[in-house]
Amino acid sequence: MHKYIYASNWKMQFSFNQALAYAQSNKKHFIQLAQQKNTEIIVCPSFDALAPITQLFKASNVYVGAQNCAAHQKGAYTGEICPQSIRECGAHYCIVGHSERRQHFGETNEVVAQKMELLLQNNVIPIVCIGETGQEYTDKKTYNILQKQLLAIFNSAKNKKIYIAYEPLWAIGTGIAAKSDYLQNIFTWLQTYCSKVLCSDGYKLLYGGSVNDNNAQDLKKITCLDGFLIGGASLDFQKFQNIVVS
Ligand code: PEP
Repeated sequence: MHKYIYASNWKMQFSFNQALAYAQSNKKHFIQLAQQKNTEIIVCPSFDALAPITQLFKASNVYVGAQNCAAHQKGAYTGEICPQSIRECGAHYCIVGHSERRQHFGETNEVVAQKMELLLQNNVIPIVCIGETGQEYTDKKTYNILQKQLLAIFNSAKNKKIYIAYEPLWAIGTGIAAKSDYLQNIFTWLQTYCSKVLCSDGYKLLYGGSVNDNNAQDLKKITCLDGFLIGGASLDFQKFQNIVVS
């Protein structure tokens, strides 16, 4: 059995104190989950909690990731956080191109590619989110959109370790995940396309969009899938644990 990845995206759902309290009170259980065979656990708190949480999980195999980074190495970019700082905080991963950033902060494919490249230069593994909107899905443009999003990052991603999270916008936060047969087609295509263009097997493919403890078992039957990016259900440790052990 290959390694299964469970990356949790806490978004801005916890305050600093809440994120710390959540991590601290479940520390032992997070570590136990990460000790399971073929299991990788990644938690992505907001920036403020990044350093204390990496410190909390320092001597364990629970990995920590940021949710975003600057598209520049350094300079006059007030309020931004550079990839080097993310690594120096002790984080190993960083989500980039999440649909909420693309939607609310105008991030283009080119900006996402720039961020990804800087993360790789700083030894942070990017979790690059791709996915189509509900309208694009209805218009049957999914593959076209995915191809464009992937083409933007392929040059810098060649032979590198990156995680690609397919997150259809119409499934994020809705409580209704995409159907397994639909996802099977998507992931078979992604696998073929990525292995051809990236010329390596360094990439991993994740699914995100309303993964919960009721659908995880079914979703795990999808071949070519290496894990999940989990939003809402990762805020409740019991639900998160159920997803991992299901
Ligand atoms: C996400 O926003 O990355 C996500 C997958 O959210 P949810 O699991 O809540 O749909």
